[in-house]
Amino acid sequence: MGTKMSDVIGVVGAGTMGNGIAQVAARAGYNVIMHDVRDEFLDRGLTAIDKSLQRDVDKERLDAESKQAIIGRIRRTTDFAAFKEATFVVEAVTEDLGVKTQVFKTLDQVTPPHAILASNTSSISITKLAAATKRPDKVIGMHFMNPVPVMKLVEVIRGMATSDETYARVRSLTEQLGKVALDCQDSPGFVANRVLMPMINEAIFALYEGVASRESIDGIMKLGMNHPMGPLTLADFIGLDVCLAIMNVLYEGLGDPKYRPCPLLKRYVDAGWLGRKSGRGFYEY
Ligand code: NAD
Repeated sequence: MGTKMSDVIGVVGAGTMGNGIAQVAARAGYNVIMHDVRDEFLDRGLTAIDKSLQRDVDKERLDAESKQAIIGRIRRTTDFAAFKEATFVVEAVTEDLGVKTQVFKTLDQVTPPHAILASNTSSISITKLAAATKRPDKVIGMHFMNPVPVMKLVEVIRGMATSDETYARVRSLTEQLGKVALDCQDSPGFVANRVLMPMINEAIFALYEGVASRESIDGIMKLGMNHPMGPLTLADFIGLDVCLAIMNVLYEGLGDPKYRPCPLLKRYVDAGWLGRKSGRGFYEY
């Protein structure tokens, strides 16, 4: 069964990822319900959407009227009851098992029984989130990449109980959003972070051990491997706290010492040097 434009897409969390997902869904023509806990977070999310669409208007890739129509399709709410109309919900709240479990319990109560509940988690088990609901067959992972409007990939992660129908509807929705779905199993870090984070962690070890300067490490990976950004710059962009949390998930979930987070990464996070968002990480901003 495919998706229909009559689908109403709910997005929980209007942060970096949530507002990106809301924007992409509204631009694809869907009606969207964007939820966050406070009006100011919704306002911030909508401002980010407005700015992002305006860039496309300025570059003449979108006309001003279409931009307004896209924004007009995004309804904002702090009330979970609004999801009674949703046929798909993508959860993009803070990466915390307790918070996400509570959100899934609530969504299970307020959405229609046929609604699919997807999580944008980077590392939490889809099977665990599904177990918090009475519809584990309709729970799935949709892992979008940052920035959502730009990046093509969605990692689609099936939990233990995810049905074939749910999987097919999510693949179809992903295509409708103009993205490419690639499958992976419900395993710590899925594929993207399992491969990316150990590379970043290794770059931090190289810096820690004095193998090279930050500029050399980043320059070598950019010029030598054609990466658009060096691994230390990328770590600052992602957030060092996020990198550390994902390394811990890999380390604990896979039980192999090769995933141990570099002590220098821990020290930076302890110092509050979290990268771009705090003004200082491996570089100064
Ligand atoms: P963020 O901190 O920018 O946004 C999270 C939002 O969720 C905040 O606005 C917060 O107020 C809201 N929120 C918290 N609890 C809520 C609740 N109970 N109900 C409704 N809203 C609630 O975080 P983010 O970077 O957008 O990350 C969101 C999710 O996406 C996480 O699971 C993260 O692992 C994942 N993710 C992030 C990235 C990235 O690069 N930032 C990439 C892929 C996946």
